[in-house]
Amino acid sequence: MKIGFIGLGNMGGPMAANLAKAGHEVTGFDTAGVAIEGVASADSAKAAASGAEVVITMLPNGQILRAVANDVIPAMDKGAVLLDCSTVDVDSARAVAAQANDAGLSALDAPVSGGVGGATGGTLTFMVGGDEAGFETARPLFDIMGQKAVHCGPSGNGQAAKICNNMILGATMIVTCEAFALADKLGLDRQAMYDVVSTSSGQSWSMTTYCPAPGVGPTTPADNDYKPGFAADLMLKDLRLAQEAAASADADTPLGEAAMKLYAKFVEEEDGQGRDFSAMLPRFEKRGYS
Ligand code: NAD
Repeated sequence: MKIGFIGLGNMGGPMAANLAKAGHEVTGFDTAGVAIEGVASADSAKAAASGAEVVITMLPNGQILRAVANDVIPAMDKGAVLLDCSTVDVDSARAVAAQANDAGLSALDAPVSGGVGGATGGTLTFMVGGDEAGFETARPLFDIMGQKAVHCGPSGNGQAAKICNNMILGATMIVTCEAFALADKLGLDRQAMYDVVSTSSGQSWSMTTYCPAPGVGPTTPADNDYKPGFAADLMLKDLRLAQEAAASADADTPLGEAAMKLYAKFVEEEDGQGRDFSAMLPRFEKRGYS
């Protein structure tokens, strides 16, 4: 397949490389001038998109996505698929999809879970919004870049699934960290705490798979001085998107809001250290952190 790939950063770079390795003809563009082995370099987004059957975008935010879409949509052939894998606000995803549909294109919003490791290993999960025909065209590409693609409904629903998932993740990570700090004060051994909670009703991915306490459970960023992993500022981005979506949909999300405020304080206070989002635990070890 002829593929245009726009945004070759930490995630987009390895995703494009995997598509090229699988034999697809990939032409990439990134404003930072990144070169990826096996991927031809174009000198503009428009040039990367022109003549492609699928154009994939992997960009920092909705504003940049809207600007890139304005550029590439007129350059794409009718019937081609615009596949955005970035994490952006639901409104931008829906606006870009409507613009693409008006120009005779299929549009999919397909944010991912799995991080840089998943992008490199081809094991991402895609949460996909958009039409069935576009989903079927993109399916073989999802199979190369990931291990699972769930079609969540019409445009914007992929982003909706992503921010709901990450709102749960942010809140469960915080309460797991709070509970470890409380257990310490109550004299409960961390290994005992892990052994009980990971097999009891307080269990979650934050405890069992990504335990924020060093030395217990599987190896996680906590065992590597909280180097990310999933950086706290990226969690904050997703929690802010969830709050924007809640405001525009008139939904009550009090715990999501509290999680966003705690991560905003965390990111502000850590002053650019870029630590993992599970480093909330050492913060709760101090009194008065709320
Ligand atoms: P990144 O900053 O490493 O990559 C983004 C790339 O886009 C950069 O290389 C940048 O130069 C390029 N870019 C910016 N504006 C551009 C433009 N106008 N035209 C072309 N290229 C442009 O970010 P990333 O970690 O690769 O994340 C990309 C997206 O994936 C984000 O939306 C992020 O929220 C999401 N995401 C990231 C992770 C993760 O663990 N890193 C996990 C899941 C989802």
